[in-house]
Amino acid sequence: MGKAETVRAGLDAILSVLLAPDCAACGQLLDHPTRGPVCGGCWASVLPITPPVCDRCGDPLPTWREISLPLAVCARCRRMRRSIDRARAIGEYSGPLRAIVHALKYEGRRTLARPLGRMMRERGADVVRGAACVVPVPLHRSKLRHRGFNQALDLARQLALPVVHALRRTRATETQTDLPAARRHRNVRGAFAVTRRGRMLTGRIVVIVDDVSTTGATLEACARTLKEAGVVEVRALTAARVVTTRR
Ligand SMILES: [Zn+2]
Ligand SMILES: [Zn+2]
Repeated sequence: MGKAETVRAGLDAILSVLLAPDCAACGQLLDHPTRGPVCGGCWASVLPITPPVCDRCGDPLPTWREISLPLAVCARCRRMRRSIDRARAIGEYSGPLRAIVHALKYEGRRTLARPLGRMMRERGADVVRGAACVVPVPLHRSKLRHRGFNQALDLARQLALPVVHALRRTRATETQTDLPAARRHRNVRGAFAVTRRGRMLTGRIVVIVDDVSTTGATLEACARTLKEAGVVEVRALTAARVVTTRR
């Protein structure tokens, strides 16, 4: 054990006893509080959405048999033309990942953006590759004031690409969480506009970043706005994704 590790182990022991901090995801006592607010067990159980996945939306595909490679696209994406060309996430919005995202967003555990961002970079490598920049989904001013930070921006900063504030909210929208899927698309339609920076992205490939994709309505509205401004390809990378298709 090196000197730094010895010090860290000692510090972990002292903090565990003095503060007894709980894991922000599972609530168990943290053995190594200096390594962040989520325990190793929780991080280890954040599972990827395993292949085969839809090349467009990232949802799991039923089986290898039903796929006409190389166009591995799910039924819904074949049916509907979407503005998002490719979407990926670390994993499904459930279990530890859901708890970790919750801790970041609603409990203000902003240090979680770094490890989450690292996982987004790894598991979304094919989304990040070749892109000019990342665009965080903006919060409306009133919500930003209330929360104090934009979790999408915190995540976007971890992706090793320039962050461009290309979008702004033109109006406050109802919280999507309380709305049924069908109304979510209507709720966010026309809710975004490109900024002056955004208008300089004509001909570029950009990656929209958010914490969770639920029905994809918000990301889709952002993507449509960017494409209308001349962005050639819009991809999406989120920490988590609600999977609606079942294998
Ligand atoms: Zn835990
Ligand atoms: Zn799909």
